[in-house]
Amino acid sequence: MTTYEAVIGLEIHAELMTASKMFCGCRVVDSVTAPPNSAVCPVCLGMPGMLPVINERALAFAVRVALALNCTIQPHNVFARKSYFYPDLPKGYQISQYELPLGRNGWLDITLDSGKKKRVAIRRVHLEEDTGKLTHTTGGTLVDYNRSGVPLLEIVSEPQLDSAEEVYAYAVSLRQILRYLGVNSGDLEKGVLRIEPNISVRPAGEKALGTRTEVKNLNSFRALAAATAFELERQAAILAAGGEVVQETRGWQEDRRETFSQRSKEEAEDYRYFPEPDLPPLQLDEAWIAALRADLPELPGTRRARYQAQFGLSAYDAAQLSEERSVAEWFDAAVAAGGEPKTVANWVINTLFALLNETGQTLDEAALSPDGLVALLRLVEDGTISHSAGREVLAAMFATGRSAEEIVAEKGLAQISDEDALLGAIRDVLASNPDAVAAYRGGKEGLLGWFVGQLMQATRGKANPQLANRLLREELAKGE
Ligand SMILES: [Zn+2]
Repeated sequence: MTTYEAVIGLEIHAELMTASKMFCGCRVVDSVTAPPNSAVCPVCLGMPGMLPVINERALAFAVRVALALNCTIQPHNVFARKSYFYPDLPKGYQISQYELPLGRNGWLDITLDSGKKKRVAIRRVHLEEDTGKLTHTTGGTLVDYNRSGVPLLEIVSEPQLDSAEEVYAYAVSLRQILRYLGVNSGDLEKGVLRIEPNISVRPAGEKALGTRTEVKNLNSFRALAAATAFELERQAAILAAGGEVVQETRGWQEDRRETFSQRSKEEAEDYRYFPEPDLPPLQLDEAWIAALRADLPELPGTRRARYQAQFGLSAYDAAQLSEERSVAEWFDAAVAAGGEPKTVANWVINTLFALLNETGQTLDEAALSPDGLVALLRLVEDGTISHSAGREVLAAMFATGRSAEEIVAEKGLAQISDEDALLGAIRDVLASNPDAVAAYRGGKEGLLGWFVGQLMQATRGKANPQLANRLLREELAKGE
């Protein structure tokens, strides 16, 4: 029986979060909430004779992404005209980049759930403009040009992925980087990030590539993984039956969980690319590129590795803390403020994340500062309050922005760590339970926990547990 291997490349389109569009002054608006065609002008509507002007911020965002993906930046690059007709493209062409893209020959390191790592080559990163948005209704097709001319980055990997799992890991990692760089929200459902796998299979060991299909309209990572898996099986079944895969664009039907044929795939020559005559070739200043490089944040992969090497965190904890830049920077600030890294990590992951989930807040919106957490952890560390009281205090700090000391004092949460005070309470407990004392002294040492419970009740949970245990043992031993 022939076995088949998968060859998959990913094309990712990411809208850039600039204030204005790529070639005109129109605002970039939310494509879901803004009234249709409320942010348009003659340039992005494709009126004849209108001239585009390049958005420098979009260019800077694109260079940041290309640098973060380890690409070689081509200081000399040109825009190209990609000609095709479609109702969402009123000009009849899209301004894109073709032979001379902004960045090429980069890579992205991915880590699979199994822990396996892989470096995936990135062929090119180029800048283009988005098209309008079509909505098909029973009464006809509606066109919204708000999206027309929004800066769009295309990131193309080499076909080096060989499973749905790798496709998923690559897409998630790339989205994380775009969010770290602050250039894209990563919202697949809103279509600001669109992921299209190019999928083919071939008999294992075969060198030549099989015929590929491209899958569109994937609005979640789960859909991406499911569509990839489906398409791999579909193509392998066709080949196994002696058939031929047709090169085409396919859609994904979520309810039936299968791909379906949309249209035959155009080849590059169908687009009649040529240098865009309305725009000058770009010549990027090396110093400008160097400044953008120097300004890159520490990226998630580097952070994960540092958290493990420098702080001894587990791979899982390091991944949790570095998933969002705001969380990672908050964690770093808490460590810089004197927090013990593993302790801070535990509190952030086990307690703070739950509070964020409950309130729907992000860490930078929350009233809790990194210094505040560190101050709280000191109170837990030195035994002023118990671990469980610490969680209660953290929730109150999170809700009110007040300091740990204030809340501990107000709620009377400080533990009794004073030996004399605790001894008084212990003697009361022993005096009121002579039978249990006799049983303990007669050999039932398992009763110690029960005495601790009695003491906690008597002190309303405020006895310092370590001290309580030691003093109880000592007092019980005295009468033996
Ligand atoms: Zn416009």
